[in-house]
Amino acid sequence: MSRLRLEHRIERHPYWPESVWIALYVDGVEITSREWPSVVDLEQLRASARQDGDYFIFTCECGDAGCAGIDEPVTVRRDAAGVHWDLGDAWRFIGVAPRDDEDWEEQAGRAAGGAEAGVPRTFVFAADAYADAIEQDVASAQAFIARLDEFATFTPDRNAAMLKHPDLPAEEALRRQSEALETWRREHPLPPGPARWGRLFPGRL
Ligand SMILES: [Zn+2]
Repeated sequence: MSRLRLEHRIERHPYWPESVWIALYVDGVEITSREWPSVVDLEQLRASARQDGDYFIFTCECGDAGCAGIDEPVTVRRDAAGVHWDLGDAWRFIGVAPRDDEDWEEQAGRAAGGAEAGVPRTFVFAADAYADAIEQDVASAQAFIARLDEFATFTPDRNAAMLKHPDLPAEEALRRQSEALETWRREHPLPPGPARWGRLFPGRL
């Protein structure tokens, strides 16, 4: 049986407030990648704990999986053995960082990160442990985020609907999220010099 583990990370950029994103590990190997990018859509992950289907559990920072070359979703199906995952395109981007000097789409087309990292395309999780890992993560993340700066944002931003404003309709949660971002940008003008990602704060919440 494989084990699923989620980790919340907060990143800081000169022009962004604290941005919370979710790293996903299977059997100790990180499947997500911020460099590529391939980050977790919590709503899709949570839905996969309820029923079989094709889910874009891994998506671009902007929330559009296709934008990051992830056209094939994760296939999730259950049987007596447990919850089966076929990683789809996310498998190709494990541990992959795009090079600046090469065409991005060509790199996406030949990426085989899973093969290089020795990660299989398919996993089987114990059904109870799978659902528990996701629900516990959502609960602990909600508790943590309640203590963050009011301008905290999410990558992808749609995760705000589950973590920051779980009681609001998703559209309203997104509207508040983008309002917070605009306010933050107004109050924190971009410093001179090239914009670069700042510190990374990994940590289980
Ligand atoms: Zn994108």
